[in-house]
Amino acid sequence: MLKLFNTMSRKMEEFSPLNKNEVTYYACGPTVYDFAHIGNLRTYIFEDILKRTLLFNGYSVKHVINITDVGHLTSDNDTGEDKIEQSARIESKNAWEIADFYAAAFKSDLAKLNILAPDIWCKATDHIDEQIALIKKLEKKKYIYKISDGLYFDTSKFKKYGQLARLSIAGQEAGARVALNPEKRNPTDFAVWKFSPPTPSISPPYQGGDQRGGQRQMEWETPWGRGFPGWHLECSAMSMKYLGETIDIHAGGIDHIPVHHTNEIAQSEAATGKQFVRFWLHGDFLTISAEGGSAFGGDENRMGKSEGNFITLKTLAEKGFEPLVYRFFCLSAHYRSKLNFTWKALENAKNSWEKLKTKFLNLGRQTGKVDVEFLKKFIDAINEDLSIPQAMAIMWDVFSADILDADKRATILEFDKIFGLQMAEMKEEEQAVVPEEVNELVEKRRQARQKGKWEKADDLRRQIESLGWQVEDTADGERIKKVIRN
Ligand code: AMP
Ligand code: ZN
Repeated sequence: MLKLFNTMSRKMEEFSPLNKNEVTYYACGPTVYDFAHIGNLRTYIFEDILKRTLLFNGYSVKHVINITDVGHLTSDNDTGEDKIEQSARIESKNAWEIADFYAAAFKSDLAKLNILAPDIWCKATDHIDEQIALIKKLEKKKYIYKISDGLYFDTSKFKKYGQLARLSIAGQEAGARVALNPEKRNPTDFAVWKFSPPTPSISPPYQGGDQRGGQRQMEWETPWGRGFPGWHLECSAMSMKYLGETIDIHAGGIDHIPVHHTNEIAQSEAATGKQFVRFWLHGDFLTISAEGGSAFGGDENRMGKSEGNFITLKTLAEKGFEPLVYRFFCLSAHYRSKLNFTWKALENAKNSWEKLKTKFLNLGRQTGKVDVEFLKKFIDAINEDLSIPQAMAIMWDVFSADILDADKRATILEFDKIFGLQMAEMKEEEQAVVPEEVNELVEKRRQARQKGKWEKADDLRRQIESLGWQVEDTADGERIKKVIRN
């Protein structure tokens, strides 16, 4: 029996889908104004593990990921610039090109991380009609009011407002969104449609290359006025279109609890009168600490696009870390715990990954039978709210167990259906575990160099070479390579 922690009840609950064999699963996609950072990607790795666990349990899964290509403003209180339009302005490009470019980059990142593609990708700009229809439905039920900059949802009319985030009315008043628009009836009211600044209309897709003096490129005509949808609306409209009015699972990062998901629930349930989502799952943050006096400042900070501590898969590749090493690193923490990123921690994950490869390849090429005892323990771990660190520990135990190598191989390959580390494709020539002793010497050499002790650094380099390793200094730090002897 699969148990999942439901953010709505704050409890572990036994999972079963509404329709016996098919799980409906919606994951909030990225806002495509820049490359995804590895914090975003941690969330998609968690969501992938969830999907693989559902599949492992014999369910078929209908999985939707949206692409937010309009409406996500730079501030959560419905003010600020549209992130896509801002990026277009900064990069001197067309907003449609910006969205297409970063959406493609995102899909390519998911593929590199061996994240299973969803059944449906859907873009907010392709579903304007559905969003307008949803507003009309809400308007008929008197949840919508119009002010000078747009149409707003009156949260005081939705009695269960804020339940997901445990928002109290007092908390809302005192909350972060103090910069209250004086025309809004309640601080928590949110825009479902924002009006464009008053300029001549253009119809999408916008073909021009100039920025039209900072005016919007993405906008649509509606009965209420020309403009664009609020960010939360797209997820409600697309989730309902593809998965139905009540879905089994909706997932995202924890930052979505207080505003985005809270508002999705309000407008969806107000429109249909039905429960919107049965299981809400949220992944905790990837944080990043200041390491060795890096420019990031503070420690244990959330990684974020606007926080300026932004690392992408490309940055990792430039430093010699393949995407699957990052996936392996993410598997070291439970999805509901914070995971702190440091280069040292990633280096450790890489060494552990290399060790795993060596051990796995040493099992030979024959695949025997999956060990029933180990499989049972493994299923117990993953079905207990995706306890991947425990599942990993069970995998290490398989290596040292008293069973045939071929059976170990079969068992570990079975586990890899969840881990997604592409172990069946591991190759001999990629084995290169840097011994701890060498790592320590490299660290001592780095310190010697920082202090200008060049002779000592040279001596350490010779010691490293005598152990059969080579250290190369690059603009991105040291690269350690095994000396190949003929
Ligand atoms: P966005 O593109 O900002 O809409 O974010 C895409 C996804 O990444 C959302 O599910 C966010 O909750 C998630 N996310 C953002 N920052 C982090 C972080 N530092 N760690 C983990 N997930 C994050
Ligand atoms: Zn969403």
